[in-house]
Amino acid sequence: EAPLLTVSGLNVAIEGAAGTVQPVRDVSFTLAQGDSLAIVGESGSGKSMTSLAVLGLLPEQATVRAEDLRFDGAELTGLADPDWQQLRGEQLAMIFQDPLSALNPALTVGYQIAEMFRRHRGWGRSRARQAAVELMAQVGIPDPAARLRDYPHQFSGGMRQRVMIAMALALEPRLLIADEPTTALDVTVQAQILRLLRQRQRDGLALVVISHDLGVVARSARRVVVMYAGTLVESGLVAEVYPAPAHPYTAGLLAASPRARGTAGSVRPIDGQPPDISALPAGCAFHPRCPIARERCTVERPKLRVVAPGRESACHFAEEVLTGEPTKRGTGAAHG
Ligand code: SF4
Ligand code: MG
Repeated sequence: EAPLLTVSGLNVAIEGAAGTVQPVRDVSFTLAQGDSLAIVGESGSGKSMTSLAVLGLLPEQATVRAEDLRFDGAELTGLADPDWQQLRGEQLAMIFQDPLSALNPALTVGYQIAEMFRRHRGWGRSRARQAAVELMAQVGIPDPAARLRDYPHQFSGGMRQRVMIAMALALEPRLLIADEPTTALDVTVQAQILRLLRQRQRDGLALVVISHDLGVVARSARRVVVMYAGTLVESGLVAEVYPAPAHPYTAGLLAASPRARGTAGSVRPIDGQPPDISALPAGCAFHPRCPIARERCTVERPKLRVVAPGRESACHFAEEVLTGEPTKRGTGAAHG
């Protein structure tokens, strides 16, 4: 069966005063109906930009090139604006980091949710209102019938996040892209939202979760791709990557997130900062921060390659990382 979403050889270039930068380079992944994929990386890794390209939401200065960018068999590259709008209205949905940007401050929350049902489903007032109440209850908004009459500013940050999730799920989209979906929510509500998303997945929803935190991803996605400086550096099943990462950057992210490893213990952030994408280091872009970097890493850019069944890594020494020992030594040395 053909995947629901195919991203192949995706490149994003942005013209700026200082020349062209490439925040996304040669990114490829697929997603089947009902499946879930996490895109993980630090801020500036290109993860949000990749999802905006898939949704046709990049600004005009950005040029998107891809060998294939396909949703449900239809090519997305070069799609006209009205077609994008229809696709985004009904089949593709997104949850942004900033709920206020997705809500109209001048309209009540109830009106905004009900309006989706009236416009896209042609439902009458009371049926749309009833559906809005049910949705708000599903995302854990107390006393939803009363809160329908409130405006976005009358909701707390966490409540606004829930309203946005309700709106994203309202029309039963086939693909949902969630950018840091639960960061503003407390743990109980996070669990509730993740349960709701899993339930929708059983009904066929495909889910892309974008996060800097592997801990968030562990409970919400089956597969993971890790991005660094605009490229994929690792991909595989969450259940296989977490216990045995095949790239030192992934190993570093895991060490920085005790939640991801399911253990308490100290958080050990990765040394250094992600590179400026307009001035990438030669060779492996991660080499200035890599605890096991060698001579070869400073001159030869590693390609993403299959390193085990279902596993890809863009590290010259992925096999060593995968088996563990040299990495642990290296990481230990780098952190004293
Ligand atoms: Fe580290 Fe070299 Fe692998 Fe890059 S290629 S991640 S610098 S070991
Ligand atoms: Mg972002």
